[in-house]
Amino acid sequence: SKASLKGYAPIRQDYEDFYTRRMYYRIHDCFNRPITGPPSSWMDVLERTPVNRQEPLTTTGKIKRCLNLGSYNYLGFASSDPYCTPRVLDTLSQHGWSLCSNRADAGTTPVHEELERELASFLGKEAALTCGMGFATNSAFLPVLATPGTLVLSDALNHSSIVAGVRAAKGTVRVFDHNDPEHLERLLRTALVEGQPRIHRPWRKVIIVVEGIYSMEGEVVDLAGFVAVAKKYKAYIWLDEAHSIGAMGATGRGVCEHLGVSSADIDVLMGTFSKSFGACGGYVAANKDVIDYFKAQCPAHLYATAMTPPAVQMVLSALRLITGADGSDRGAHKLSQLRTNANYFRSGLLRLGFNVLGDWDSPVMPVMIFQPAKLSATSREMLRLGVAVVEVGFPATPLLTSRMRVCISASHTRQDLDYALQLFDYVAERCDIRYGGDTARAL
Ligand code: PMP
Repeated sequence: SKASLKGYAPIRQDYEDFYTRRMYYRIHDCFNRPITGPPSSWMDVLERTPVNRQEPLTTTGKIKRCLNLGSYNYLGFASSDPYCTPRVLDTLSQHGWSLCSNRADAGTTPVHEELERELASFLGKEAALTCGMGFATNSAFLPVLATPGTLVLSDALNHSSIVAGVRAAKGTVRVFDHNDPEHLERLLRTALVEGQPRIHRPWRKVIIVVEGIYSMEGEVVDLAGFVAVAKKYKAYIWLDEAHSIGAMGATGRGVCEHLGVSSADIDVLMGTFSKSFGACGGYVAANKDVIDYFKAQCPAHLYATAMTPPAVQMVLSALRLITGADGSDRGAHKLSQLRTNANYFRSGLLRLGFNVLGDWDSPVMPVMIFQPAKLSATSREMLRLGVAVVEVGFPATPLLTSRMRVCISASHTRQDLDYALQLFDYVAERCDIRYGGDTARAL
């Protein structure tokens, strides 16, 4: 099922400049569309008139009811849940909306500590630490480990938050080809020689940074390959499980469980609460020493407002549903429903002749439309028909690999998915986006 994006011709810089200057204004009605309700399997989107130049967008005031294939609400917890919502409301009345303090001063409640204990045990780690924002968990925690003398090796398609973290690192950074442990090893060997030739081990620390499921590719990491290289060169692994925690693995423990890799082989498990947990915030889980070091050193722990208590309670309740600690099998059922839905929709798209990236079981499904001009056509047509998808183009992806990204949820029904497939089929005709494996025609 996997279409390869290897071998794309490099894109000329002047065309990229042209694109960023002109195209954004021509299609900006396709982004920042306000939604007026919860991000459930169906949601209400406020319609706005398309514009061609730089005039401000005008709203038509009309609300469009859309099937939601855009939010990361993998287990469907983001809208109201009978187990989570009353507990969140209790926590809201007990602790208020914000603690107005960082964690170290007056920003820790027993709910924070409970969540961190249960999360560490769920992930098979000694300790965990939460942070108010998933993005900051990468951008502010990663540099704390990458002290001077560290070699950081980062996947070419890592998320923007990782790129921010890696850029803030004090050590040396090298970028390896996407999901390619062999290229990583070649780079690592060269870097070891280039480091300081007279010293046997020139880098004080080597950190490999990868994602569990790549957010724009829907692809599962070659974790066994990276672990083998890490063991050989005594490197640490930082694994971002934003899209895999609570979505992959028989019991929702992420890509380690999905791929049969022990979480003991991953030094820092990082993740976010804005996807499967239906809330917001992020975490790191690791040995107690590493977490204590973060508590003492990380500016986002010491100087940024703590995760808000209702959000912490939302995550704790969702986690208890996932583990069955609520006393029901609802969480387990949602996990298997997510997998069934994801594979059903992926096979439907492939049958219709789309060029779909990513792996089976992954709830992230990029549907390739390649040409940036088709971003606006597909987005407007989809909205007109009543389906909300995320359009991804440059600079989030290379210029000629634009895509519509579908995120599947356990809360989608079979009728929802069939309806969406019908509309994708219709839009494929209108916008000429049935590329199958034929990337040559697309370009
Ligand atoms: N890591 C990855 C891989 C992501 O896709 C995202 C956001 N989608 C983040 C980190 C940032 O998480 P948040 O949106 O929760 O801040």
